[in-house]
Amino acid sequence: MIIAIDGPAGSGKSTVAKLVAKKLGFSYIDTGAMYRAVAYKVIKENIPLERLPEILENLDLKLLDTNEGVKVILDGEDITDKIRTEQIGKKASQIAKIPEVRKKLVQLQRKLGLKAKNAVLEGRDIGTVVFPDAQLKIFLTASAKERARRRYNQLREKGLKISYDEILKAVIERDKTDMERKESPLKPAEDAVIIDTTNKTIDEVVQMIINIAKERKLT
Ligand code: C5P
Repeated sequence: MIIAIDGPAGSGKSTVAKLVAKKLGFSYIDTGAMYRAVAYKVIKENIPLERLPEILENLDLKLLDTNEGVKVILDGEDITDKIRTEQIGKKASQIAKIPEVRKKLVQLQRKLGLKAKNAVLEGRDIGTVVFPDAQLKIFLTASAKERARRRYNQLREKGLKISYDEILKAVIERDKTDMERKESPLKPAEDAVIIDTTNKTIDEVVQMIINIAKERKLT
């Protein structure tokens, strides 16, 4: 069984998806981390975008389930924390527009989802493209200001110095890139349940999703 959780940056997807997966005993697959991993490699190795197809062909990317959560391993290096910056988020959003990148990563995501059997996948296009037949599709939203506030708190907690205004600007820019791209733009699937998380706690949202899964007899 596949649960698809899509939505814009800062809508609470990651936190909610992880908790839903834990409660249901499902695997958790963070597809944004894959785009971020490719972005990390492009920046670190200064790779020109025309070389991306070749890089993707030999991509050595693993999502490892550990006691401390899922670790992102690229070329044997643990990059889990390194890919969480706004710089990588922005680059990820730029490379996510490239059809060859999407094709390769969607393939990988389908493989991981099918291997896991029961999985919660979070991203932008899980319900529309990666698993259009997912048994449950959730689309999380929240106002841009609220999403920027959450991102700001997260990054400050990690000790990164960045202003709220910069984050808000980055959030709005990334929404625009993700929604306006030709290839798999960010949008809810027709049969997705849309949840506005602006005035809800994480636990409330998680419970709502679990309840819907139960109502539909998916658990
Ligand atoms: O979710 P996260 O912020 O980690 O994703 C980083 C970027 O990767 C997004 O802004 C988006 O451009 C891209 N992405 C995507 N499709 C997905 C997941 C992420 O295009 N399924």
